[in-house]
Amino acid sequence: MSAGKLIIFSAPSGAGKTTIVRHLLKKFSDQIEFSISATSRPRRGVEENGKDYYYLSHDEFIKKIENEEFLEWEEVYSGIFYGTLRSEAEKIWAKGKTVIFDIDVEGGLNLKNQFKKNALAIFVMPPSIKTLEDRLKLRKTDSPESIARRIEKAERELKTAGLFDKFLINEKLEIAFVEAERIVGEFLEE
Ligand code: 5GP
Repeated sequence: MSAGKLIIFSAPSGAGKTTIVRHLLKKFSDQIEFSISATSRPRRGVEENGKDYYYLSHDEFIKKIENEEFLEWEEVYSGIFYGTLRSEAEKIWAKGKTVIFDIDVEGGLNLKNQFKKNALAIFVMPPSIKTLEDRLKLRKTDSPESIARRIEKAERELKTAGLFDKFLINEKLEIAFVEAERIVGEFLEE
């Protein structure tokens, strides 16, 4: 089937992109729908299968890679896979809606390169690495090792922000919400 539009939110873990994406889903509920990714990591806290992610075993994930079922996939952390199922995006386009993604920076750029003008890629910037670390600690869902890994990855990711169509600095959430609404609203009008 022919591809529809995509809105990609990428950011270092803890930059607040998930909160912004949730806000946009409420605001533009009749025009956009969230692409649920697949992952081989275990469920965290109150997460639900088929809502936050499709949780697959390592072997199930590998099988889907071999069957070319992913639009993009990545080993985001060592031994832990994440990916966007082609069927997920197609299901949303078939409803005449735009797909919105909350994925890591490399995955976001991969989709942008595939879908070009049909995709709007937005990089959410934390005000600083220190803020990012504080937010990850406050979230209380990650071990100290996991936080250290995420910070190291964030430092690398910040260097690629210039490859995105837009950036959004998330210092004050209310301001980031308004800016995100404006950028997304314009793209949906195109
Ligand atoms: P978390 O474990 O915190 O839910 O996600 C870890 C990282 O994986 C985040 O940066 C998240 O955006 C990214 N991620 C989630 N889904 C996908 C996906 O489908 N593809 C890629 N490449 N990354 C993803």
